[in-house]
Formats: sequence, structure tokens, C-alpha cells
Amino acid sequence: MTATPDYRALLETALEEARRGLAEGGIPIGAALYHADGRLLGCGHNRRVQEDDPSIHGETDAFRKAGRQRSYRDTIMVTTLAPCWYCSGLVRQFNIGTVVVGEAVNFAGGVDWLREAGTQVVVLDDERCITMMREWIAANPGLWNEDIGED
Ligand SMILES: [Zn+2]
Repeated sequence: MTATPDYRALLETALEEARRGLAEGGIPIGAALYHADGRLLGCGHNRRVQEDDPSIHGETDAFRKAGRQRSYRDTIMVTTLAPCWYCSGLVRQFNIGTVVVGEAVNFAGGVDWLREAGTQVVVLDDERCITMMREWIAANPGLWNEDIGED
């Protein structure tokens, strides 16, 4: 057994990505895929605005940057905001063992659904993630609704 990783330390990588996205004028959601042994496999951020591509969420970006992995059981998807259905589906499709969520206050996403499926979900309630997302949503309600697929 490897020791439980410091999830808060892993969140820093995702938060850095979210801030990068914000600086680019995009939606501030970042993610990182780690191996349970602490290796960073890939990281990325939402680039809906930057690339005009609604399929690039933080999680999918990190997943793609990580390249092919033999198995995802011992990987950890770290994301600043609770994963949407699309990204929760990705977690289930590839059997990613653990999901670390910076915050689920502004958006609950698929957290319960993932837990029901046996995925370990750790919600950190990180104040920086909560505040950043709250402020961004308040300033960009239309773009936010577009990102989560609401009319
Ligand atoms: Zn998503």
C-alpha cells in the first residue's frame, strides 16, 4: 500500500490551471490527473472560450494530456470544481479510482452519482476554489449556463 497522497497539495496543480484559464479570459476550472504514487500524469483547464471548443473541460484536458494509461484504477482526478455529467462519465468509463474535488458548493455535479458507483470522492471545500468560482459565475452567468448545458 502506498501512503494516502496529500490531496490538498495535489489541488494546487489544478488551482494553478484554473487561474491560468482565468488569465486567458476563460472559465476558471482546472484539473490534474495524478497516479496514486504521486506522479503527475497530466493537467489542464477548461478552454471552451479560448479554443471555441465545448468539449475541453478541465478534466478532459488533463485526461488527454496524460496520454494512454494502462489502467486508471490507481489514478486520481483532481479538479477545482465538482465534475459535470460529461466528466463524471469519463471517470466512470475509465474507472478512475479517486476524484478529488476542490469545491462542490457552486456546482454539485456528479459527486453523488460517482459515489454510488464506488468511486472514492474527496471534497475539500477549498475556500479559494469556492470564492473564485462564485465571483466568476456572478460576473459571467450566460457563459456559465452555456458551460453546464442549461438554457
Ligand atoms: Zn466537465
